[in-house]
Amino acid sequence: MWGDNMAKITKERKVTYYIGIGMVGIGFILFISVFFSAASFMNDPFGGSGIPPFTNSVIGMVFMIAGSVVMNIGAKGAAGSGLLLDPDKAREDLKPFNEAKGGMINDVISNIDAVDQITNSKETREVIKIRCRSCRSLNDEDARFCKTCGKEL
Ligand SMILES: [Zn+2]
Repeated sequence: MWGDNMAKITKERKVTYYIGIGMVGIGFILFISVFFSAASFMNDPFGGSGIPPFTNSVIGMVFMIAGSVVMNIGAKGAAGSGLLLDPDKAREDLKPFNEAKGGMINDVISNIDAVDQITNSKETREVIKIRCRSCRSLNDEDARFCKTCGKEL
């Protein structure tokens, strides 16, 4: 049933969301614990756990970031969060973006074609000429003698 399926997705998303909240909570506790452990670390650098306080801070931040991502997945659904757990849905979500990107690429390609045509027509119109060393007149590329003064090129 469609209804059952919806309920199932919602439940999974709720669980995901709560896991995310839990991760953020753990991260936050680890993060704020730094202020307490930092104090004890400075008072007694060789005592306690011996782990520098910023280690917990970094772990805490990683947990908070990961937790917020998990919460996002729970709230918006996997496809909406940008994770490709539901490729069909994700493709549907990204369709406007892909179409825009495709349009841009087509524009770029047509621009390249236009530039190519200009370059090609310019090349075909331009014939390479050799300037004579004695009279400075232009001669064809394959000419052996100057057509104006008759000297060898
Ligand atoms: Zn010449």
